[in-house]
Amino acid sequence: MDATEKVHCLIIGSGPAGYTAAIYASRAGLNPVLYQGIQPGGQLTITTEVENYPGYPEGIQGPEMMVHFEKQAARMGADIRYGLATAVDFSGPVHKVQIDEEKWIEADAVIISTGASAKWLGLESEQRLNGFGVSACAVCDGFFFKGKEVAIVGAGDTAAEEALYLSKICSQVHMIVRRDEMRASKVMQERVKNTPNIKIYWNSVTDEVLGDKKVHAVRIHNTKTDVKEEVPVSAFFVAIGHQPNSGIFKPFIDMDEAGYIKTIPGTSKTNVEGVFASGDVQDKIYRQAVTAAGSGCMAALDAERYLSAKGLH
Ligand code: NDP
Repeated sequence: MDATEKVHCLIIGSGPAGYTAAIYASRAGLNPVLYQGIQPGGQLTITTEVENYPGYPEGIQGPEMMVHFEKQAARMGADIRYGLATAVDFSGPVHKVQIDEEKWIEADAVIISTGASAKWLGLESEQRLNGFGVSACAVCDGFFFKGKEVAIVGAGDTAAEEALYLSKICSQVHMIVRRDEMRASKVMQERVKNTPNIKIYWNSVTDEVLGDKKVHAVRIHNTKTDVKEEVPVSAFFVAIGHQPNSGIFKPFIDMDEAGYIKTIPGTSKTNVEGVFASGDVQDKIYRQAVTAAGSGCMAALDAERYLSAKGLH
């Protein structure tokens, strides 16, 4: 086994939260080491155009934006490495993080920015057309289907919120709900049901997303009546929940029942002193690049104050 490496500030994750934390931590002289994880750049690397990140008046491709984030963090001096955090030991005053099931790192402060992953139905067509009309983010991609008919699958608060968002942009929203009721809060359900251009397909599952190079329809199967129908749509939104990437922290870090890390409100502090969380791994409500970046900044500032107070910086 490799020898243990000691670092001052360790950042886990390379989405907007991790890179922003790296920019701030570098400028504060914390010499951060950032491990990028399995998907360098995070969820934005699987989207297309980003139009709602301030500072890009013409919009920018998600992957390109994440290259900018990385370059800026590197220019400030962050030590950016490819590698995946595979285990942690937060039981003592020095925080231990294992990388790639091999090497252990000891860090005075740790910033967790491991993000979340959208859940998918698991259809081959869904995967093939991802980015070509299939999306897991209506707020990111709805605008590209302005005035068009779209479908959305899911029945929780996210699906309800996204269906309402889409109803304001698109001509018609076809909402596919697998049971005869919705999981979303009553008020959200009522709003959805009272929106004239949202049509709900109860007891229905998605058989296939149809399209060669881009989505042109969705085949819906009513499991009660056994009727199948093809609904022409230009986009297919999946809103069946997200999975925060927090599994390895579970033995030490407080989380809610879905696995989102709990932070002390108004801060990025977790229940473990010296361990901070930012971005989607601790946010199930907003989940935007700009909010993730903002919370990455908070985490770096909190880490700096913590290290100063401990006399470590
Ligand atoms: P949820 O887990 O609450 O809901 C997921 C939905 O997707 C359920 O309706 C579920 O159906 C459906 N679903 C899951 N798998 C499939 C599948 N394979 N095929 C079809 N449908 C499927 O996730 P959300 O992202 O909606 O919400 C997560 C949490 O965040 C919740 O606690 C929610 O309240 C909260 N939230 C709050 C908001 C707010 O307060 N403004 C906004 C957004 C989210 P079924 O019901 O049959 O299981």
